[in-house]
Order: sequence, then C-alpha cells, then structure tokens
Amino acid sequence: MKKIIVFLVAVFFLQNVLAQSTYILCGKLVDTKSGKIESKKTILVQENKIVQVFDGYISPKSKTAKTIDLKDKVVMPGLIDMHVHVELEFDAKTRLNKYINDEADIAFNAVGFAKSTLLNGFTTVRDLGGTGVNISVRNAINAGKIPGPRVFTAGKMLATTGGHGDPTNGSSRKLIGDPGPKEGVVNSVEDAKKAVRQRYKNGADCIKITATGGVLSVAKSGDNPQFTIAEIKAICDTAKDYGMHVAAHAHGDKGMQRAIIGGVKTIEHGTYMSDETMALMKKYDAYLVPTITAGKEVEEKAKVKGFYPDIVVPKALAVGPQIQGTFARAYKKGVGIAFGTDAGVFKHGNNGKEFGYMVEAGMPAMETIQSATITNAKLLKMENEIGQIQKGFYADIIAVEDNPIQNIETMENVVFVMKNGVVYKK
Ligand SMILES: [Zn+2]
Repeated sequence: MKKIIVFLVAVFFLQNVLAQSTYILCGKLVDTKSGKIESKKTILVQENKIVQVFDGYISPKSKTAKTIDLKDKVVMPGLIDMHVHVELEFDAKTRLNKYINDEADIAFNAVGFAKSTLLNGFTTVRDLGGTGVNISVRNAINAGKIPGPRVFTAGKMLATTGGHGDPTNGSSRKLIGDPGPKEGVVNSVEDAKKAVRQRYKNGADCIKITATGGVLSVAKSGDNPQFTIAEIKAICDTAKDYGMHVAAHAHGDKGMQRAIIGGVKTIEHGTYMSDETMALMKKYDAYLVPTITAGKEVEEKAKVKGFYPDIVVPKALAVGPQIQGTFARAYKKGVGIAFGTDAGVFKHGNNGKEFGYMVEAGMPAMETIQSATITNAKLLKMENEIGQIQKGFYADIIAVEDNPIQNIETMENVVFVMKNGVVYKK
C-alpha cells in the first residue's frame, strides 16, 4: 500500500510539477462548439495538450511556468483546411516543372509552403494530391524535422487516362508512356482496387479522385464525367477496407452524382451542382468543400496573357466565377460545408481569404469558423482531439487581432500560432 502511494505521488509530481506548464491569457475565446465568444479565459497547456480552461485570468504558482498574454486578442482553435496541395504552387511555368524538378526540389519547395500554411493559422490540412513527396513532407512534419501543419495526405490522386490528374497530360508523346494504377491512372474496377491499395502501401491517409475534368489540366473538358460508377464504387469500397475516406474533385453535375452515389465523402469545388445533386449530397451525408479562393484566382490569372496554357483559359473563365454562387446555393439548401481552399492553386498562406468569401456568399462568420474546426475535425475522425479548445484536446491554438464576427478579414491576419503545444508565431 505504501509503495502504491509513493508511486502515485511520484506520478502526480512528474505530471504536474516537471511538465512545462503554459498559461495562455485570452481576452476573447471562440467556443467553436457553442458558437459563442467568451471573455477573459485562461488556457493551461502542458506538453502537447490542453489540460484545463479556467474562467478569468489565472497566474501560475510555479516559477517554471510560462505565461502568454493574449488579453487583447481573439483566441480560437487551430484552423483546418480540407483541400491544399502542399507540394506545389502554380505559376506561369508550372507545366514545365515536371521536367525540371526532381523530388528533392519538390520537397524543398514544400518546406516553405508547409511553414507558410502553419504560420497563417492552419494547424491541420488535408493534402489532396501531388507526386507522392507529400507523404515524406507529412512524415518530416510529424517527426518534428520541419515546421508545418498536421497533414492528412492522399499521396498521388487517382484519375483515368487523359483525365484531370493523369500525370502525362499535355506532354510530348515521346515522354508520356502509358501510366497505370501505380501512377494513379485507373481504367477498370480491377485497376481501381489496385490503385487504392497502392496508395495505402505508399502511406496515404485518404484517397482523392478526379470525378470530372478540371480547369488546370491540359485537356479540353473542365467538367465531363471521367470515371464509371462501378470504378468509383470499387475505389470507395476498397478505401473503406483500409480506413480511408474518398474526396472527389468535381465540376460537372453528372460526374458529381456518380461520385456521391459511389460513396465519396467530400465533393471538391462542386461548380455546376444542380438542386437535385444537392439533395443527393444531403441524402448520402456528403460534404461540399467550396474552394472559392481558387475559383477567384483562376478567373483572375486567366486574364493574364500566357499565365495558363491556351486550352486552360476558357475553362478557368467559365468555372472560376461559378464557384462562389454554387456555394451560396448549397449552403442555403443545408448541404454540409467543409472549409477548404485548394491552396497551391493560389499562394500558400492565403487560405484565410476563404472566410471572407464564404461570409460574402451568406454563411455567418461563426459558421465559417465552425466549418474550419469542428466539421473538418469530424471528417478527419479527430473530433475529440482537434477543432476545439477543451480539456484533453491537442494544444492547437491561434489568435487574431479582431472579433471575426464584426471583421471576418481578421482571419487573414493570424498573430499567434501554437501547434501541438509548441509556439510557432508570437
Ligand atoms: Zn486541388
């Protein structure tokens, strides 16, 4: 009995005295669960977890404890972006990059993109496709080698031959070969299963498919369906076996319907979504990831001569302006909205612009923040670990200058970032 008491005292001592305690004094604190903004709170952080949230300002008793004063700031949980491409950032010569860059070049670029994402308040992202270097980037961040958000990555996205995401689109015939499931190109149910299992083997966390044509691929259609329903079903069923969900890039309505019926969890962009498809989204509990910022960017860049290949320009001009309006309709109809931007199509770190565009389209500011925290945490099956400032959650904590309910643009100016208990910006 005595030994047990000594042991328990030792455990208590180790946990509460030796663990570095940080007291964060919050002038205002966003409670994403209730949707309320509270005043004068103190968050106690030990190691990488939130240990307690107190009413009022608490000053530490121990001399080794740290205090962070955010009394004139608005504090909230770290933000989650469900659609980024951590490996790339589009510019006028992006088309050439696959012939110029080696994997090491891609990795070094990604280091900067990941850091910028984190310093702008996004402590978790879902990466929806690159060359596969994204898996190494995730591992490097998790191992503490480089600063960046928690990354859930799809690795290389899945496409069909000539489809949006076929890595050889628009290349000289001498260079293209005939990529298959290993490279993410699928043309049958059997290919579909193999491609998903290959992603699992490579270390992906989720699956991304390109259910329709896309804007930035060097191909004519930006919206035609590019998978059969049987292929999509095979992808979703196989992904389920490995505990992965499926995200579908989709602009056109037909391909979107196939994706939803086939079992995908999120529709990315959703540009030409009909009312009928919105009803289908609700029936199948699928979420729309709006990516309005990307829509605005491609529309703007399409007007810059030579920025995109000629075949891309008309698609960008048609799709870009539609996205925000579709989001507005989907929100009004009660479709689930998962905050996501498509960062990489525009500059990493500008993800916070999406909040303003969502508010402009009719979603209340608090709901945009809830979408970027609790909704996305739930989709990533981390609803008890991230997306709220609560006892037992990871210490992913950020702060902005203003009250976002009155000034949503404050979300573009994140002034404090803590991820996993480590301060990255102050
Ligand atoms: Zn994307």
